[in-house]
Amino acid sequence: MALVVQKFGGTSVADADRIRNVARRVVETRRAGNDVVVVVSAMGKTTDELIRLADQVSSTPYLREMDMLLTAGERISMALLAMAIQDHGLDAMSLTGSQAGILTTNAHGSAKITEIRGDRVRAGLDEGRIVIVAGFQGVDPDSKEITTLGRGGSDATAVALAAALSADACEIFTDVDGVYTADPRMVASARKLEEVSFEEMLELASSGAGVLMARSVEFGRRYNVPIHVRSSFHDGPGTWVKEKTMEEAVIRGVAHDASEAKVTVHGVPDKPGVAVALFEPLASEGVLVDMIVQNVSNAGTTDISFTVPVEQLDAARTIAQTVAESVGAAGVDVDENIAKVSLVGAGMKSETGVAARMFRILSDHGINIEMISTSPVRISCVVRGDQVTEAVTSLHDGFDPPRMSAVNS
Ligand code: ASP
Ligand code: MG
Repeated sequence: MALVVQKFGGTSVADADRIRNVARRVVETRRAGNDVVVVVSAMGKTTDELIRLADQVSSTPYLREMDMLLTAGERISMALLAMAIQDHGLDAMSLTGSQAGILTTNAHGSAKITEIRGDRVRAGLDEGRIVIVAGFQGVDPDSKEITTLGRGGSDATAVALAAALSADACEIFTDVDGVYTADPRMVASARKLEEVSFEEMLELASSGAGVLMARSVEFGRRYNVPIHVRSSFHDGPGTWVKEKTMEEAVIRGVAHDASEAKVTVHGVPDKPGVAVALFEPLASEGVLVDMIVQNVSNAGTTDISFTVPVEQLDAARTIAQTVAESVGAAGVDVDENIAKVSLVGAGMKSETGVAARMFRILSDHGINIEMISTSPVRISCVVRGDQVTEAVTSLHDGFDPPRMSAVNS
């Protein structure tokens, strides 16, 4: 008998009908002879609504109380799903993150899972039950305080739970059919991928592909839990995210991200200690710096540009201005109208000319490249925000992913 962890996102449990539909799918999996653990998100836009309510009653809601509030969302859907499953004559039991033994750090609102005890989950399975666990939450074992894992955290709950239980697979049911070669809302010819490696999925997720949270992919990779991303609305197969893919792709997909802004510090003295003077305070304020580009020195000074999430732009600008003054830089510029386009594919490690071809395609479309960064399996360019659709579409047309490498195809 296989053990399957199934995760259903907010859209999949948005109302009573959909919850009954989820119950049917869970029951089918169970009747096919599998042990099933289900992880649920809060119904529909519940989490957003709870956040709005908090903002209405308080100007600065305490993070502890936010966690008490938001964890209630997943509690509602887990109990309703248990009832809907029980209606099929099967035994089901819901557990909060804390009851399921999901232990976390103490960071309210952005806690990290440190350990999954899972005793009650295993006991429930041993008794022949379907066990439903509330996603996105846990407990700090020292303070006994309830925590949440950050927005979209139910994916991480599911994959971490699958790892801890040595499940055979983790199925993430969502409102899209799987992982696509590009955002299908932007590129009509985008195709659903049959499979993608953990390494590629991590790059896609952190380059803007919203299907899976990067942190959950990281868990999958670390503990080698294959993840099946599939639609909750039909039975067809989705995309498998796993260690090794059958074929190695030069380009698996094109991702884009318009959620970052660029900060440039002009005319910084080109000498030791300047970069650290800037990036240390950014780090200690928790600003998530993504790309960094430093220009060549010109008459002893240089420009440093970096990108940060738009929500952190004000914080980043304030820090950059303070540092600019103290190191004698010429000034600070910010630019919100940028977007990042990325090509991802594990096969590009052993293929030459991918970057050149990317730059050719962008140039043929009159798209200026403002920053470039690479990893072994990714090339990203920052372009003007209003050219992002053209950049993604032309790169997708030009590279036609998933383009397999010659060795394997
Ligand atoms: N309900 C939480 C959110 O909306 C967690 C999740 O859906 O994964 O962020
Ligand atoms: Mg969600």
